[in-house]
Amino acid sequence: MGLLEVLFGRRFPFKFVYHEEYWMLNTGKHIFPVRKYRMVHERLAALGARRENFLKPEPASFEDLQLVHSLKYLRKLQTGSLSKDEIQALELPFSAELISFFRLNVGGTVLAAERALDDGLCIHLGGGFHHAFADHGEGFCLLNDTAVAVEKLQREGRVGRVMIVDCDVHQGNGTAAIFEKREDVFTFSIHQMDIYPSEKMTGTLDVGLWSGDGDRAYLEAVRRHFPKIYEEFPPDIVFYLAGADPLAGDQLGGLAVTKAGLLSRDRIIMEGALLRKIPLVILLAGGYSRDPAETTDAHVNTVRTAAVMKRRAARLIAQREAEKLDRPVYRP
Ligand SMILES: [Zn+2]
Repeated sequence: MGLLEVLFGRRFPFKFVYHEEYWMLNTGKHIFPVRKYRMVHERLAALGARRENFLKPEPASFEDLQLVHSLKYLRKLQTGSLSKDEIQALELPFSAELISFFRLNVGGTVLAAERALDDGLCIHLGGGFHHAFADHGEGFCLLNDTAVAVEKLQREGRVGRVMIVDCDVHQGNGTAAIFEKREDVFTFSIHQMDIYPSEKMTGTLDVGLWSGDGDRAYLEAVRRHFPKIYEEFPPDIVFYLAGADPLAGDQLGGLAVTKAGLLSRDRIIMEGALLRKIPLVILLAGGYSRDPAETTDAHVNTVRTAAVMKRRAARLIAQREAEKLDRPVYRP
């Protein structure tokens, strides 16, 4: 082990999935802050993440996209024949480049999920496009990366029961609709009621909060359900959409949660999964602070929390197992 490894190698005990094309998407003056991806990447590099920490995704194939999206919708994307209304619902300028961005993001979440199954945890520095439905896109989401990853892993027999923990401030309407009535996919969403999407879909467990609710109500709600739901529905993998848009001052959310509040949320959700050895895929999802450095900060906090929680969980599990082995010896 070299000196650098001693100093930094253990800093991030997992891989990141990232592609520089994430921030090259040209959205003009649009609020969708693609440069946050580059900023998070730079911050992590400054914190000691090494080249080997990063995995580069491939764009998802149309075959994989068809596991979730209708052929009719995918054809429309391929031929660029979305209607005016459909483009309006998307709220993003439509282009071939946009399709590439989303295919790459779907590939990224698939890769992160595969890696989480091997390593216990993997973070996709992208993903979380939960407003994409099977047959249409909306709210900055063209393709539903999480849903495709779930279907692909299930189809390959690598997982059975899946849990999606969606903590983006907006309800994961597309994801909830895609997995409606599915007993093997648990969709949890904690979101703000009085913002987009105006029509909420029904997921397995929805927690609605209101503008200005803040840390107390937010964390109370998280603690009410976690880690309990990991016991009630033990999944083979958890997809955690660690949205930064509940943060106070977000331009598209009003929950007014502080950075410390988001940190506690991350800790509760991650610890519950890691202590139960449930593979955990973390996705960045939303974040629209006026100053992108604020959003970046919140995302980087999530990554650092993951590093702390992963080590802590490994230590506690090792301790627990050692105690189990010792018990017969010490029991009177
Ligand atoms: Zn959002």
